[in-house]
Amino acid sequence: MQSAQLLIGDEWVSASDGATSETIDPATNTVIGSFAEATGADVDAAVASARAGFESDAWQGMTPDQRGKVLWRIAELLERDADQIAALETLDQGMPSFVSGGISLPLAAQVFRYYAGFATKIEGKVSPISIPGNLTYQRRVPLGVCALITPWNFPLAIAAWKLAPALATGNAVILKPAEQTPLSTVRLVEICREAGVPAGVVNLLTGGPEVGKALVNHRGVDKISFTGSTEVGQYIARVSADDFKRTTLELGGKAPSILCADADIDAAVMGNVQGALFNTGQACGAYTRFFVHSSRVDEYTTKLAAAASSLTIGPGHKADTIVGPLVSQEHLDRVDSYVQSGRDQGAELITGGSRVDGDLADGFFYRPTVFGGVTDDMTIAREEIFGPVLSVMAYDDIDEVVARANDTDFGLVAVLWTKDLTTAHTLPPRLRFGTVFVNQLPLIDPGAPWGGFGMSGWGRELGEYSIDGFTETQSTFLNLA
Ligand code: NAD
Repeated sequence: MQSAQLLIGDEWVSASDGATSETIDPATNTVIGSFAEATGADVDAAVASARAGFESDAWQGMTPDQRGKVLWRIAELLERDADQIAALETLDQGMPSFVSGGISLPLAAQVFRYYAGFATKIEGKVSPISIPGNLTYQRRVPLGVCALITPWNFPLAIAAWKLAPALATGNAVILKPAEQTPLSTVRLVEICREAGVPAGVVNLLTGGPEVGKALVNHRGVDKISFTGSTEVGQYIARVSADDFKRTTLELGGKAPSILCADADIDAAVMGNVQGALFNTGQACGAYTRFFVHSSRVDEYTTKLAAAASSLTIGPGHKADTIVGPLVSQEHLDRVDSYVQSGRDQGAELITGGSRVDGDLADGFFYRPTVFGGVTDDMTIAREEIFGPVLSVMAYDDIDEVVARANDTDFGLVAVLWTKDLTTAHTLPPRLRFGTVFVNQLPLIDPGAPWGGFGMSGWGRELGEYSIDGFTETQSTFLNLA
């Protein structure tokens, strides 16, 4: 059994009222640990601690080179404990080991190394003003106290891609992991302290939505970096208007995958199955709406259904598992109700459509599900399902498919499958999405921005964009006359 406390300043403490909640293994529906359920008083204490940490000599006096070294050390410690942390992520989230150990953990370490390099390269500029006798230059200065609120689908990787740039730019933070999956974030915070992050600079509050709400409403917080649902993102945008808290919002997605008539169908099937079912479809960039040229739609649907139904379903810790459990019973019920709506609205269920029984009946396992004959107005084509549900639709003409792909509230990711170089270059600018992949499964790299158009959120993370997201521009005018 794991147990997790709050980190406030230098102290690991219980919630001020002693309250705890439990976290479960979604592969077996058994309790694997408990964590402190932070109170309003704990939120106040964490914000005060972060402010003190931000202003401390230990942090303010650290040179960019020293900050970079600390970040690099965090990456090394993540790699030292990689197997243990990846196993913990799989236990708490359900993530197949090839994802937790092969992708999430290495990505988290890579992100810290990437921003370790940035710590010494956050440059300002000198502006050529027309006031005689003045020198004017701009610096990037940290925002102060940043609340980093993360979802349950990629707990460690998403925490890393917020925390690394926040520290590289000299901020202090309060991490708030999702209540379903707090355990890997606790290890990350322990590692930060071991790596030499000064007391108060990284604080940890575990707990549910009320803890996130209290942070969003707190006047002592300068910035909210949030990844999660569009609904909560809307709440944060509304509340942060009161004090103009800076916000970065990475929200939902409903990615179209456009298969042109000339597409390599076998490559597209393989890439789309991986893109759709990566982490059991619990990914904001998951490919979900498959627009297939009508000349290829039957071939594609048959091959897609065969590939999706052939994947090994099982607990994440098993080496051959490709599709793990959904994160919770509540989420499984949600996915199942979307599948039911697809049936009710007249889509053709080609494979899947049910929970897995037998040996896996205790866990939250759901069969990869493919619907054909989906129309754009069906709920499964419009709303984010965040599970293993794939919808195939036919189209005839490129202008038509661009309009239909763009006809969504979301705008995070799109993918295009074509052998034609002109189409590969001319179609992406017509698609209203933050990232367009061409002949590719969805990839994330610390050097490339991530974020969306429309209701997929505000701002970009990763790359140099996160440096902007965690700093303000400050101008200095010097009278030299
Ligand atoms: P969620 O919005 O329910 O919760 C996310 C986090 O916010 C949790 O830590 C939760 O405790 C907290 N929270 C809940 N209510 C809050 C409130 N009112 N104020 C402040 N904090 C609050 O999301 P989820 O169900 O954990 O995650 C799934 C969602 O995340 C999906 O919609 C998915 O698309 C999105 N997501 C987006 C990206 C991206 O990069 N765009 C990445 C991963 C997940």
